[in-house]
Amino acid sequence: MSNHAVVTLNFTRPVYAHELRPGDVFAFPDAPHTPLTVGGVKKTVISPELTLLALALHGRRAEPVHLPASTPVRPLRMVRTVSLTCLLCHKPQDVELDLPHDGEPLSLVCGDHAPDTAQNTEGE
Ligand SMILES: [Zn+2]
Repeated sequence: MSNHAVVTLNFTRPVYAHELRPGDVFAFPDAPHTPLTVGGVKKTVISPELTLLALALHGRRAEPVHLPASTPVRPLRMVRTVSLTCLLCHKPQDVELDLPHDGEPLSLVCGDHAPDTAQNTEGE
């Protein structure tokens, strides 16, 4: 039974290019309707203030895109496995969330405490 309940916050904080990982989908703010899938990320530290990223993008172009790590991006898909501890029994549990859709995880109550009334009524 993985009947856990995760409390999430709306994922409204800004996201910067350095948070992207292979498999993520994002768009640049000036081209919000062009989803780009990250194939690979290479970091180059130029100075303490400046890190450059080389982002390989799936199917878009052969050359990676170079940009500062602090470039704001619009996340469209960022699946992350987050380890949360149950608020009630402190049992750790890994939860997979697509942050832009599911929100940012805040706290978790594991399936051990789910009330019977919390049954899923999908399929009506
Ligand atoms: Zn628990």
